[in-house]
Amino acid sequence: MRAVTRLLYEGKAKQVFATDERDVVRIHFKDDATALDGKKRGTIEGKGAVNARVSAVFFEYLAGRGVATHYLGMAGDRDLLARRVTIIPLEVVVRNVAAGSLAKRLGWEEGRPVAPPIVELYLKDDALGDPLINHYHVRALAVASDGERQRLEETALAVNGLLVPFLSRKGLRLIDFKLEFGRDAGGDILLADELSPDTCRLWDSDSGYRMDKDRFRRDLGGVADAYQEVLRRLEGGESDAVAGAGRGDPQAGSA
Ligand code: UDP
Repeated sequence: MRAVTRLLYEGKAKQVFATDERDVVRIHFKDDATALDGKKRGTIEGKGAVNARVSAVFFEYLAGRGVATHYLGMAGDRDLLARRVTIIPLEVVVRNVAAGSLAKRLGWEEGRPVAPPIVELYLKDDALGDPLINHYHVRALAVASDGERQRLEETALAVNGLLVPFLSRKGLRLIDFKLEFGRDAGGDILLADELSPDTCRLWDSDSGYRMDKDRFRRDLGGVADAYQEVLRRLEGGESDAVAGAGRGDPQAGSA
């Protein structure tokens, strides 16, 4: 019956539990939020439930279009059931628009379009602050073979190609996002972890209003409302509920 047996892992925003089905885990999404390498901490009310449901919507959408994911279904209102995988310690980031660390690194203004999209690899290592690495580092670290690394990058670009138009129909611009992948018991590589406003930058298509974790990182206010609005739009609602969103007020947090 997939009853939870023991805690396998606890991260900043999630807990992963083993279940009585060997290959199935239950991922519990917390309201806790951290940023700036853990130096900033807080809670965002309702975030766990939103991120679980947003991830479920994305995983279902992608799975329906040929992307292999760990997602099996929702359990309760803030937990996902997923295939048990060993996470490959790489964060694969895709960028359509300059923001965050890319804007800083290259001296690009945030909002500058990036074409073609840039794929970046970061080593998942909290103690090192997840450093940016390249193909040579991946090889020397032996965290993935060349073929696997190439597949991760191709899958990340395919995910981007699917999510950009999907989100655009919801009035959201996909600025950038981070993916993680894992190997299941059979060695197959699956898209894993989460896809949510914690791990994607999403701007309102009309106003540029930020509807993602940057509201928390940068103390922009309206964090919980922005997360709820993303979920509302993904679940098919209308697209104008957040204060500032869709009202031509890009300064309400787009810089
Ligand atoms: N990201 C993430 N986890 C991380 C680092 C980044 O989910 O540990 C996401 C982030 O939300 C954004 C994208 O990856 O959508 C690119 O983030 P960036 O490198 O600009 O880092 P940041 O500015 O967040 O430090």
